[in-house]
Formats: sequence, structure tokens, C-alpha cells
Amino acid sequence: MSRTPCTQVISLPSSTVSGKDTAILTNAKGLRFRGRYSFLSNFFPAIVYGYPTVEHAYQAAKTTDKAERTGIRSARTPALAKKMGRQLKLRHNWTEIKLEVMETLLRKKFAVPFLHKALAATGDIPLVEVNYWCDNFWGDCGCQKCENIEGQNHLGKLLMKIRSEGNIDY
Ligand SMILES: [Zn+2]
Repeated sequence: MSRTPCTQVISLPSSTVSGKDTAILTNAKGLRFRGRYSFLSNFFPAIVYGYPTVEHAYQAAKTTDKAERTGIRSARTPALAKKMGRQLKLRHNWTEIKLEVMETLLRKKFAVPFLHKALAATGDIPLVEVNYWCDNFWGDCGCQKCENIEGQNHLGKLLMKIRSEGNIDY
């Protein structure tokens, strides 16, 4: 993935995004998963394997302990689930399987017709999870400290992979 020069504004279809939205939702690095694009975020409400969001399900997958999973499932917000996930003792092979786990969860989420259509409607817009919490694994942090770090954008890449596969049978 090549870094987009700061001066370049990623062009979005004018029919879907107003000028104001473009300023809020994009910067030199890509698209923010906010506003009308919040459905791309793992915090977006979407039942996935009985969990209220992909975030809940992903955090729960870090452990094989049933009680801990149940606790994460009932976390009131995805942010809280994320926080709980940080305190878990990770299953031994977590590093090796976490990308695969995320892909499975995203496929489940985007098998829902309205979400699948919304994803398809992003056309060929580069999906880069621009964030400001220094996550350069799943996204690409836009803070000053991370200016010279190119985020791996694994979340964006998985979303684009699913998008590129086109229509699915509902
Ligand atoms: Zn940062």
C-alpha cells in the first residue's frame, strides 16, 4: 500500500458524500469509519455468532474460557468489550489465528443483505481504517507520532477483499 500524499483528497462519489462529509470522513490516509461509513466499523451493531458486534465476538475469541466469553458478550458497549479483551489471558495460538478469526467474523457480518449492499456501494474507494489511537495493525493511525508509519490496514484489506468478491447468495 503506498502512502497517499497529504495534498491528495480521495475522491468519493458526489452523489453519496457531501463536501462537508468528505472533510470529516477522509484525510490523506483514507476513509474514516465514521458517519455514513460507520457500518464499516467493528463497533457497528450487527449480530455475529450471537454477539452484538464484531468487536464483542473478536474480543471473546481471544479466550476459550466460557465464563469470560459470556462476560464479554454482555458488555454494554463494544468499547467495553475491547477493554475487557485487553485483560484476558490470550489463547496460546491467538497471534496465528487472529486475522483468520477477523475475516470469518467480517464475512458473517457482511452476509446480511443491507450491510453487503452498503459495502458494495463503496465501489472502489480505498478502505483504510484511519484512526487516532495508534492502531497500525488493523488500520493506519493519523496522529503526528505515527506520521512516518505506514499502517498495515488489515481491517481495510479484509473489507476490500470481501467487497471484491462481489454478490453473494442471501
Ligand atoms: Zn498514532
